[in-house]
Amino acid sequence: MTSFSYAANPVRVVFGSLRALGEEADRLGLGRVLLVAGSRFGDRAADALGSRLAARFAGAAMHTPVDVTERALKVVAEHGADGVVAVGGGSATGLAKAIALRTGLPQLVVPTTYAGSELTSVLGETADGRKTTQRTPKVRPETVLYDVGLTLGLPVSTSAASGLNALAHAVEARYAPDANPMTDLLAAEAVRLLTGALPRIAADPSDVDARTDALRGAWLAGTCLDAVQMGLHHRLCHHLGGKFGLPHAETHAVLLPYVMAHQGLSDAADVFELAASLPIPHSLGELGLTEADIAGEPEAELLRQALDGTRPA
Ligand code: NAD
Repeated sequence: MTSFSYAANPVRVVFGSLRALGEEADRLGLGRVLLVAGSRFGDRAADALGSRLAARFAGAAMHTPVDVTERALKVVAEHGADGVVAVGGGSATGLAKAIALRTGLPQLVVPTTYAGSELTSVLGETADGRKTTQRTPKVRPETVLYDVGLTLGLPVSTSAASGLNALAHAVEARYAPDANPMTDLLAAEAVRLLTGALPRIAADPSDVDARTDALRGAWLAGTCLDAVQMGLHHRLCHHLGGKFGLPHAETHAVLLPYVMAHQGLSDAADVFELAASLPIPHSLGELGLTEADIAGEPEAELLRQALDGTRPA
């Protein structure tokens, strides 16, 4: 018998409407909420929160800069907030997590991309140009509310890159050293949903069924991300992203087919074709890297192929 362990994390996941935000805040006992949201969804989220809204903060940024968190903490303190609601992509979620880490406040997150951060106990933060990552249950949101309607306007290029970021979580769960029958199931279904949805979204970004599949796939992939160890792909993306300031989702999207081929996965060619068909960067060169940048890096051969975007060998 193969030994394994699996622990389900205590997060309430709701697929529904942003209009349920007030009800979900009530479930958490929140009456003075800090809303982390940009202009795109901020007003609708504020309406849904009604009198539970204490303050708004719109400054979330990629890779969770600590100076932004410090500004948001001042707003938390000034308004005596008793919880954080984040509506947005991984950047908004990251700020909510950074606030929760320092205050212990409960979080209600409404993800509008496929990043998957809302399901994890991982927080990456940047200070003085350096990114540090930590894992602690203190940052895992209590409630995640998915509203497919909010994703219909996510541009095709962002959807494709973010969807491949999600796919990477599921792919790495397949060969994780601590993979188990539950994560195998989650990963297989996430791969099926995401690879099926992305070409349909590229053809018609307002296709609600395709958007639903992608968001469900992102949920399952995000669950894998928290449940098992990520491997080579995430290590490379984290290293290159930090060193060269690369965009998060696009870096995942470029490297995924190359890492899959390197790992000998039978569907690596399918993922290469899928990525090639989508309007995203297809090479590290397009992300601004040069031959000199990757010389001496770990996995230099893999990176050299990804530099030009040639079909992985
Ligand atoms: P993001 O949150 O910066 O969003 C990307 C862009 O899409 C932004 O310009 C945003 O305004 C826009 N956008 C978001 N939702 C939209 C919508 N529905 N319609 C139109 N535009 C929309 O980027 P991301 O890729 O979602 O997240 C990346 C961040 O998340 C990085 O900081 C990364 O480190 C972090 N992350 C963390 C984890 C974790 O487990 N800790 C996992 C994945 C990503």
